[in-house]
Order: sequence, then structure tokens, then C-alpha cells
Amino acid sequence: MVEKYIHRKLFLWHKENYRYFPWRHTKNPYKIMIAEFMLHRTRAEQVVPVYQEFMKKYPDIDSLAGADPIDVSKVTEKLGLHWRGRHFTDAAIFINNKFKGRIPDSRGKLLSVPGIGEYIAGAILTVVFNKKEWVVDSNIARFLNRFYGLNLSGELRRKRKIIEISRSIYQTTRSGQLTFALLDFTGLICKPVKPVCNFCILKMKCNYWKRHLK
Ligand code: SF4
Repeated sequence: MVEKYIHRKLFLWHKENYRYFPWRHTKNPYKIMIAEFMLHRTRAEQVVPVYQEFMKKYPDIDSLAGADPIDVSKVTEKLGLHWRGRHFTDAAIFINNKFKGRIPDSRGKLLSVPGIGEYIAGAILTVVFNKKEWVVDSNIARFLNRFYGLNLSGELRRKRKIIEISRSIYQTTRSGQLTFALLDFTGLICKPVKPVCNFCILKMKCNYWKRHLK
């Protein structure tokens, strides 16, 4: 089965190519949620110092829910104008009120939290709870589109076929590990421009490789 092939090759590759980031060594759902908010459209390397400063000031849901959004903005604005403090405090207040301060472990409930969309919900469910839930961001979608030879265009991460495939490759007991491996692989090898196909461990079964480069 091609899913097993992807798992085997990808996990092996990831042993040598794992990228260390501070949020990757925790199962604390609050920390993962904050990291994912920050990582949205921002490079991980840029996020590291902001994330660390944020965690010192707001180490848990309660401290964030009680914070002044203007103070929170002073930290988050380092990621760009889009990142308003209220974005973070709203999520924390909502989780405190609706879920008694506990970040939920179902997609439906996670999606009700302000600022959590399908990707962040999937990341939390796999990384924190190791659930067999699908995860698709624009990078993972691009990889799936190429590997499976789908030839889809437009907003790939929202395409039904891409989500279907993601569901099938996430039928693994190592879903959290798969999310990190896919993020690293699509950042380093199956890149948006000039994918490094010659050195790709998946090329033998990749439709893009077969069609364009073999
Ligand atoms: S062979 Fe190229 S296109 Fe296919 S998965 Fe690898 S890097 Fe991506």
C-alpha cells in the first residue's frame, strides 16, 4: 500500500532530518496551539524568539485569558501586523468559558475556538492527542498533489481529493510524528519551487517524478 510506503520512507528520512523547535518537545495543547497560531504564514525560525518570550509571559491559558490584549500585542506584533493580541486572548477566554480551560480533543469543538481552523485543529489532534486525524496545510497539499499526480490547481488544501488522501495517510498510530515529518519534508525537499526530486526518498512512487523528471 502506498500509504505504508510513504510512512516507511518518510519516518526513516526524518530520523536524519528532524528540525528542532521548542514547541516540538511538548504535548501541552496550550503550547501547541500558541505555536500554531504563530506559525500561520510565518517561518518557524522567525517564530522561535517570539514564542519563547510569549511563553515566559503567558505560560498557560489562565495567564493569557487574564492578560491585556495590548500587552499581548507588544509580543505578537513582532510576527507582523496581522498578529493582534486579541486574537490570542479571545481564544484563551473562549476555552476558559466554554471548555473549563481545557483544550478540547475533537475537531468539531476545536473549530469552535476563535482562530482555530482545519489545519490547526488537525495539528493539535495529531501532535498532542496522536489521533488518526487528517492534517493539510498548503505545503502538505502541494506534496500530495504532486505525489499522487492529481493535477489540481487553485487552493489545494481545500480540495476534497486532497483531504481524502490526507485522511488515508493519517491512518497511523504515529500521526503526530507524521505531521512533523511532512512539515519538514515539504519544507526541505518537496518545496514549492524547485523540489529536490533527485534526492527525494519518495521519488520511485511519485507521479510528478515519473511524468516530469525520470
Ligand atoms: S519526487 Fe519530487 S515532487 Fe515527488 S515527492 Fe519527491 S520532491 Fe516531491
